[in-house]
Amino acid sequence: MPWCDTCDKQIETAEKECNDCGAELDTSDQVAVDGPPWHFWVLIAALVAYLVWRAVVFIASIV
Ligand SMILES: [Zn+2]
Repeated sequence: MPWCDTCDKQIETAEKECNDCGAELDTSDQVAVDGPPWHFWVLIAALVAYLVWRAVVFIASIV
């Protein structure tokens, strides 16, 4: 959603002007960052590596 600096809030409009004050809206944050941040994937990778390691240790212990 575009941001109105004058009203200091997000404006629900498809227009480039604020419904309330008519000011030009800041649409610079319209480029949405989809998905979780990079450190989330680092955490997931570490978790998967840990689980794979535990699986290897478990399998090695029963064969
Ligand atoms: Zn406004």
